[in-house]
Amino acid sequence: MKQSEQSRRTFIKTAAAGSAALALSGFMSCADGKKPPNFVLIFCDDLGYGDLGSFGHPTIRTPNLDRMAVEGQRWTQFYAAAPVCTPSRAALMTGRYPVRSGMCSDKRGVLFPDSAGGLPETEITIATALKSKSYATACVGKWHLGHLPQYLPTSHGFDSYFGIPYSNDMDKIRHMSVKDEMDPKPEYYNVPLMRNEEVIERPAKQGEITKRYTEEAVQFIQTNKDQPFFLYLAHTMPHIPLFRSKQFKGTSRRGYYGDVIEEIDWSVGEIVRTLKKEGLDENTLVVFTSDNGPWLLFDQHGGSAGPLRNGKGTTFEGGMREPTIFWWPGKIQPGVEMGIGCTMDVMPTFCVLAGADMPDDREIDGKDLSGTLFKGKESPREEMIYYRGQRVYAARKGPYKAHFMTELSYQRDNQFKLHDPPLLFNIEEDPSEKYNIAADYPKVIKEIQKMVEQHRKTLGPPSDNLVERIKEGPAVL
Ligand code: MG
Repeated sequence: MKQSEQSRRTFIKTAAAGSAALALSGFMSCADGKKPPNFVLIFCDDLGYGDLGSFGHPTIRTPNLDRMAVEGQRWTQFYAAAPVCTPSRAALMTGRYPVRSGMCSDKRGVLFPDSAGGLPETEITIATALKSKSYATACVGKWHLGHLPQYLPTSHGFDSYFGIPYSNDMDKIRHMSVKDEMDPKPEYYNVPLMRNEEVIERPAKQGEITKRYTEEAVQFIQTNKDQPFFLYLAHTMPHIPLFRSKQFKGTSRRGYYGDVIEEIDWSVGEIVRTLKKEGLDENTLVVFTSDNGPWLLFDQHGGSAGPLRNGKGTTFEGGMREPTIFWWPGKIQPGVEMGIGCTMDVMPTFCVLAGADMPDDREIDGKDLSGTLFKGKESPREEMIYYRGQRVYAARKGPYKAHFMTELSYQRDNQFKLHDPPLLFNIEEDPSEKYNIAADYPKVIKEIQKMVEQHRKTLGPPSDNLVERIKEGPAVL
């Protein structure tokens, strides 16, 4: 048995022992003697930084999210850890750059329906960690970390799973042009809808998918209101092809895409309403964010990164910076937070609040944000490494961001460019990355290069899982 495998088993064993003790103590395990908080993590797919009213969109109505942004904290420099789905989700679930789990690839980018791989069993997810404190855990929505039984949410700490396990544009019935995908029908995509490890519907009836995820999420909250819970609601939308329920058709001034976002906002409202109705809102942390930026190839069906440059797939800000809201009435200090945060920080933050241990036998890249959320402290995060696949394209230290390579996404000509010297932007003064100031700040570039070298040292030798995890199948469901 490999050492990491051994340690994961030890971790789970210890967690199980902890659970038994906790059950006896009636969940009075937190330091202050109160019931541990619940967590609701709402994760969108391909939502742009500029797609919410509270993040500046002029014609998309998001009243529920906007209210949460006022009552909670609105983070304006919060990142996904990769510009595409699979690696971004691996980082969210593990608190680690995806290169550490092998969940990134230069060749394919994300897992496909024929991929044999998935999140290794040696990785410890948020759900696994919270299990040590007897949390009820559910994953509803898009998983995209492996669709074979050993990689599904139910093998990674979740009690249950309901959703489309990968992207909703996969399993196409025929070759489709960009134009076809902008006039979609659910039957064009033979994607499965799963409950736990079983396919229960195929093709998934995507027209109602946001509504059905919401109903499932609400039911989970109601069923588990008397014990601490972790709900991971990962919307399939607004990934293309776009779908929305009948009642949202043609309702948004922003058109089709606006309808989809407004239905997600409705969904958020339903979650909050349920928490309030069940008297759980003052003991629940809700986090809202997304996995990567807008898919610009699809014109008006793609979202908007607002003032940020480019979108999904790229390591420009539009590819990885996400509209992010933390909400916990009476507990979070309301306001706009301009410090740096990242989805990798979610796991350490939840663990601290739950009194759960983070794994201590591996590199963790996430930081505990609770000081910033509850005590007005500065964000502990000062840097970001921007990966595309397995390569470092850019890095940020404080306000400065250096691009070593740039590439556009999903274009016929990706315009790959190496930059020597790197491009340098002050992205607090110039969030659109327009003005290269490399010539004026050679020392800053050196510091960022040094930071990347130090990061590389923590990776160790290349993992033998690296390509393996995203490799081609056949492994079709
Ligand atoms: Mg995505």
